[in-house]
Amino acid sequence: MANHPKTERTFVLIKPDGLQRTLVGEIMRRYERLGLKLVGIKMLVPTAEHIEKHYTLHPGWKKAVGEKSIESYIKKGKKPPSDNPLVVGEQVIERLKKYLTSGPVIASVWQGAHAVGIVRKVTGGTEPLSSDVGTIRGDFVLDSYQMADTDDRAIRNLIHASGSVEEANAEIPHWFKKEELVNYRLVQEQILYDVNLDGLLE
Ligand code: ATP
Ligand code: MG
Repeated sequence: MANHPKTERTFVLIKPDGLQRTLVGEIMRRYERLGLKLVGIKMLVPTAEHIEKHYTLHPGWKKAVGEKSIESYIKKGKKPPSDNPLVVGEQVIERLKKYLTSGPVIASVWQGAHAVGIVRKVTGGTEPLSSDVGTIRGDFVLDSYQMADTDDRAIRNLIHASGSVEEANAEIPHWFKKEELVNYRLVQEQILYDVNLDGLLE
């Protein structure tokens, strides 16, 4: 059963603005009601080193985040702050260190079928201005690339969620020790995953 899709795990961080906006319960509810199982959770104030490591666990992230930011400017017919994705990426990392160490965060691990993709879908796109209505970022916050750049700070978008299974597999051990994650059965998993739904009728 080791590779069954229901064993997929993802890492979710409620960022300092999520706590300050008192949205922790609302955010957790969105993931919980999908049928995902919470297997690890803690509150902490991260260090700048921990955040830098988190974002540099994935080689190529710096360039990718720069490219995504530049593309967003071009799509809106605006001039990006730099044409070099690495310059933009480096700037974003420095801003993220300030943002994510500014107060307590909630780190969590969720398990279930397609956990990574399902959580990303419900979380919504990076920029709240353009993230879909109905997603957490689309419904609860109003930031933009432009506003973040004007004020030289990170985009405040409430949550970080792993972008791929590989990212999740690197991020989970960065935030949690093995013994902090709990293996247990959730009663509702029978209705989500069992092949034969026998035993329901009395
Ligand atoms: P996360 O990794 O936090 O779940 P994401 O995968 O949607 O978000 P990334 O491209 O990985 O987005 O960027 C990481 C975070 O960096 C974003 O969530 C946002 O807070 C911040 N960020 C990204 N681009 C910029 C930018 N151009 N200016 C300011 N902050 C940015
Ligand atoms: Mg990301």
